Amino acid sequence: MSVIVTGAASGIGRATAIEFAKHPLGDQAKLVLVDRDEAGLATLTSELDALGAASATCVADLMDPKAGDVVVSATLAAFDGIDALISNAGAIHMVPLAEMTTGQFDMLMNINARATLVLGQAARPHLAKSGGAIIATASTAAENPIVPLGAYSASKAALVMLMRQMAAEWGPEGIRCNCVSPGPTHTAMTAASYDDPEARAARAAEIPLGRVGSPEDLARAIRFLAGPDASHISGVNLLVDGGISANIATSK
Ligand code: NAD
Repeated sequence: MSVIVTGAASGIGRATAIEFAKHPLGDQAKLVLVDRDEAGLATLTSELDALGAASATCVADLMDPKAGDVVVSATLAAFDGIDALISNAGAIHMVPLAEMTTGQFDMLMNINARATLVLGQAARPHLAKSGGAIIATASTAAENPIVPLGAYSASKAALVMLMRQMAAEWGPEGIRCNCVSPGPTHTAMTAASYDDPEARAARAAEIPLGRVGSPEDLARAIRFLAGPDASHISGVNLLVDGGISANIATSK
């Protein structure tokens, strides 16, 4: 099974590539690792080799409108087709809306929403052939405002609706389209908040299941949505957040 993973150099994307390598859906994992961090991809490739997975890398800036074609060409140069697209790369910018520039807003909408459209359009004919799946990493911020993450929240809400729309438009072609939404998860993106054990514990106290999430929590959910056990699931946004969204919904 050939799987494209974007944002593979770090955090959730990296854990997802390792999850597919350890538990291939099919005989052997065939992974296309996409990121703009070339060194991070090189480190991951060595780890995947040791796990017996076949992999290829594609260094690309996913904000480039041509990135979809670049990624799909790299995939087809390495493997026969495309079975799953994991559109996971994303970025955060902590700026209150009152101070946010249009450039900052556009950047967030671009990497967090438009990049998935561009990748999805390029992968679509190949996913239709394989009966494949697209999984995008959204966020619980898509549903609950978090100050000062207003534009990030808006971009992830756009992504969730984009994926539902894709599910409606491309489902008849046999393509399943879903989101996973991490809650607070300890990765490079959130290192400033969660590297400190006290800060992490304070956040954990707000999460019903009592801990900040790990990249592996997300990786397992992504693999599930990509595989045959999810064969009749499309258009959902699977929260992987330790129940924090339920807490927010009931605490006010
Ligand atoms: P991370 O910073 O560890 O990984 C993000 C990766 O995306 C990096 O390797 C980075 O180089 C890559 N990337 C960013 N912009 C790119 C671009 N323009 N082109 C190519 N690659 C690019 O962060 P993470 O926490 O693993 O984030 C993965 C996804 O999860 C993101 O979409 C993020 O918004 C989402 N998310 C994370 C959390 C959390 O608490 N960590 C919560 C909700 C949602």
